[in-house]
Amino acid sequence: MLCSLVPSATDVFVAGLIPQSFINDLIDRADIVDVIDGRVPLKKTGKNYSGLCPFHDEKSPSFSVSPNKQFFHCFGCQESGTALTFLMKYERVEFVEAVEMLAKDLGLTVPREKSNRNYVEVDQSIYQALEGAERFYRQQLRGAEVAVAYLKGRALTGVTARDFGIGYAPEGWHSVSEALDADGISSETLLQAGLTIKNDSGRIYDRFRHRIVFPIRDVRGRVIGFGGRKLGDEEGPKYLNSPETAVFAKGQELYGLYEARKALRSIDRLLVVEGYMDVVALAQGGFRNAVATLGTATGEAHYRKLYRYTDEVICCFDGDKAGRSAAWRALESALPVLDEHRSLKFVFLPDGEDPDSLVRDQGAEAFDQFLRNATPGIEYLLKKLGEGLDLQSLDGRARFMGLANPYVEKIPDGILKDLVKSRVREIGGMAMPGATAPKTQSSRRAAPGVEGVAGSTLAQRMLSILLKVPALWRALDANVQQAMLAQRQDLGLLGELAAFLNDHPEADVNEILMVVGEGSEQAQLIELAKKPLALNEDAWRQELIDGCASLLRQREKTRRLQRSAELRERGEEEKIRDYLPQFTSGEDP
Ligand SMILES: [Zn+2]
Repeated sequence: MLCSLVPSATDVFVAGLIPQSFINDLIDRADIVDVIDGRVPLKKTGKNYSGLCPFHDEKSPSFSVSPNKQFFHCFGCQESGTALTFLMKYERVEFVEAVEMLAKDLGLTVPREKSNRNYVEVDQSIYQALEGAERFYRQQLRGAEVAVAYLKGRALTGVTARDFGIGYAPEGWHSVSEALDADGISSETLLQAGLTIKNDSGRIYDRFRHRIVFPIRDVRGRVIGFGGRKLGDEEGPKYLNSPETAVFAKGQELYGLYEARKALRSIDRLLVVEGYMDVVALAQGGFRNAVATLGTATGEAHYRKLYRYTDEVICCFDGDKAGRSAAWRALESALPVLDEHRSLKFVFLPDGEDPDSLVRDQGAEAFDQFLRNATPGIEYLLKKLGEGLDLQSLDGRARFMGLANPYVEKIPDGILKDLVKSRVREIGGMAMPGATAPKTQSSRRAAPGVEGVAGSTLAQRMLSILLKVPALWRALDANVQQAMLAQRQDLGLLGELAAFLNDHPEADVNEILMVVGEGSEQAQLIELAKKPLALNEDAWRQELIDGCASLLRQREKTRRLQRSAELRERGEEEKIRDYLPQFTSGEDP
């Protein structure tokens, strides 16, 4: 269970300040029932507690908390985790803050490892300066006709402007500095906050002048920087961001993430767009789930952050050449964080359109249509790799495999990687009749033992599919069903499930889990059941049909090998011939 507490790479950076021993101690001392009961009313039901799930709308309780396992699970929306994950999700805080909250509940003080080299105490006055500047810019917007006219021209309402804290930086050289000086903020702090610039001759002036300003917030809602859109014809870039400061790391932050989390109780998907105006215009059009990177490409750290809040990320790009190469870079950075539960998709907008213009000119429905037709990232990867290659020729196929492998290797080990690998082999022609079968471990193993089949990845995968959509049992051919029931003993948990589904074809996952009861098997099933579906049901059906047939073939082979070994032992070798032909004529080696 502790493994689910292992923080992501970005957490390690921050959590590095808190000794791991303290975190372990904290988890030891905390009681998940106490932690949750203080926030969600729970009732005792048998060994467990249950209540109405705080993460999805429901009328009857499907949210269950196990004091023995110190784990919660919702059978409705499949949210699950420990006391710390509960706090992160419920209170919408980051790992470190969840640790702090839990510690506070238990009356403990979080020790900090000051010796950690990453640890730099942030001067709190930088936050004060940024907060003051945000207030100042917002006030300035009211009297700024040009700025208001610009926003109105973009069809933004006052409500959206307020939700995002949009403001205006006036034309003067010292507007914000003078306003904040009156609040007692030193000019040194203003420089550190990136609000002012010091030129070579030592003159200090405001960074943002005559621009619409968009405050950039961290996930806690604190202002950490600004983005500015030019209003006049004067020199300078169209968009200008705060520089990197002690509180603003561009490679980590996403504009709009805080606002999206604030607006949405649960985030089904996040849209990554190019600029502030896209984020704001989409929010205005009803898409509260858009975020933008800040003048940098979407990098690995961004994806780690995005997938902490959602399972699906859709990146929107221009349909032009620049957009396509941006998509390629985005894909490369995402591969190391992808798995079968995390979906990445791409949308390519028509040339010259961005989400802002599209929603404004063609409406929300038009944009939604693009989202629905988004291209899965992996599909895009394989298509791009195959472009310009003759996949009918051996040479072309070999080149395709050579090109694809380094990308496949970037995907973490797991089901997704296996699927992509087999797809690459398929395209590369390795799975075609007459081609040499890949020398994987499983095909080399002469006679997989009984355990080999029951505990194999394939059996696990079939189990997982049937748990997600138990009704798919009926999609199997009657012969296959009978064969699986006959092999029940050798198929382990999958065999058990097959037998239960055969008797209870209407059963849903809750009933299945109840029948299995407490114990390691239930834990294993919960683990499998809580994984969200990455593909559609048709794809699962086909996979189940193919997978079960393949499992049965494996079993049959094992049975024959065992039988021939028995005969050989008894000296009845002539009878082995009865088994041999079926071996040599099979398509598998
Ligand atoms: Zn739920």
